[in-house]
Amino acid sequence: MKNSRTHQDSEFNSAGIGYWKNEEPIEETWSDYKWQLKNRITNLNTLEKHLNLTSDERNGVLLSGDKLALSITPYFLNLIDTDDHNCPIRKQVIPSIEEITTSPEEMTDPCEEDSHMPVPGLVHRYPDRVLFLVTDRCASYCRYCTRSRVVSGAGDQEFETNYEAAFEYLKNNTSIRDVLLSGGDPLLFSDSKLEAILKRLRSIDHIEFIRIGTRIPIFLPQRITSELCSMLKKYHPLWMSVHSNHPREITTEVAEALGRLADAGIPLGNQSVLLKGVNDDIPTMRALVHKLLQCRVRPYYLYQCDLISGSAHLRTSASKGIEIIEGLRGHTTGYAIPQFVIDAPGGGGKVPINPEYVIERDETKLVIRNYEGKSFIYPEPKIPVMSPLEPSAMMHE
Ligand SMILES: *Cc1c(COP(=O)(O)O)cnc(C)c1O
Repeated sequence: MKNSRTHQDSEFNSAGIGYWKNEEPIEETWSDYKWQLKNRITNLNTLEKHLNLTSDERNGVLLSGDKLALSITPYFLNLIDTDDHNCPIRKQVIPSIEEITTSPEEMTDPCEEDSHMPVPGLVHRYPDRVLFLVTDRCASYCRYCTRSRVVSGAGDQEFETNYEAAFEYLKNNTSIRDVLLSGGDPLLFSDSKLEAILKRLRSIDHIEFIRIGTRIPIFLPQRITSELCSMLKKYHPLWMSVHSNHPREITTEVAEALGRLADAGIPLGNQSVLLKGVNDDIPTMRALVHKLLQCRVRPYYLYQCDLISGSAHLRTSASKGIEIIEGLRGHTTGYAIPQFVIDAPGGGGKVPINPEYVIERDETKLVIRNYEGKSFIYPEPKIPVMSPLEPSAMMHE
């Protein structure tokens, strides 16, 4: 039973119930997240029952499995257009043979996270916040995963997190006011296991701000139960960053899940990765950010794809990202515009990359341009301001 789905990006459509070629009625179980998890598509045999693969995809499934596992929730698989081999949903989760080729510039740990871990599982790169990797498993695996060296359990490197040492480190480092739970996907934990972590974090006075980075609202919206939301809201201020790349991912199921989270008072952000043939054009990104705003999600970051090994076929130029931001700024709601960033190779952290709106600048004025390309002059104050870089200013330090 093929679901009739329109592919108009601006409309909210359901992913539908049941696989295209599934004969059994599964309506009762489809909305049960445990059923969705148990029935994830993890091997070639099952995948080929539901989808005609190209030989590149078929070989990709066979050969890339020892780097990053294949896993797709039935719900998300249903979003794939069976007839379109360039389907933007398909490219994100179906392996391609191109994954086994590593370009010279590519790395297994492009953001040098492993060397920034004071204790296993805790990445401490910035002065006041840490990234806490609590699990190596996700509901489905993104083929461009920046952490594929450890995520999914298929690769050679073993995932390691030492909870007690991590909590001890957080307790002893009073400069840490912000903890970002990620992985893997923290929402894969049971409510009680996740609550135990949140409780420990909340028992540390100097931790003001907790965030969860998750793609579960997109891969498995059924997981966002009212029980989960009631638990989460006890640990405010709790923010959440979701991960969506294409407007078709924002289905009615996802919109409802995001609504439940927003109703629980959780401020929502979205992180997108710029991917070739998926979202590297202005109309697609515009449709995505507009849908996100309708779901009370603020587009947060647009990432230039990390130099993860085997990702060359999904990466596009940084100028594409700049062009997209330029195509949004001024043309649409300011809230809809994410910050385009490059997570600097070698561990420099996130660096904002912006279109150039300052045409000319000296001590007396700035020549700026607006979104339509018209230029304007802003005169600087007449009183000379001492530059912090002048030697005389530095002497006072
Ligand atoms: C992205 C990231 C953070 C959070 O950065 P924000 O800009 O505050 O969202 C923290 N630590 C690490 C290691 C990160 O990669």
